[in-house]
Amino acid sequence: MKIFLNFKCESGAIIERYIDSTAKFADCDCGKPASKAISTPRYLSNSTGKSPARP
Ligand SMILES: [Zn+2]
Repeated sequence: MKIFLNFKCESGAIIERYIDSTAKFADCDCGKPASKAISTPRYLSNSTGKSPARP
């Protein structure tokens, strides 16, 4: 099963990958390995940071 997961690159960048849920590592765009990041999921529908309840 593939899901969206956040990975943290060795350089400190957080990347998002659509990858198998059991994967522990992913390849970052910079070529370095990125390990699975334990963090709050980012919601794609609210990427601006503004509250969706605002008019
Ligand atoms: Zn990287």
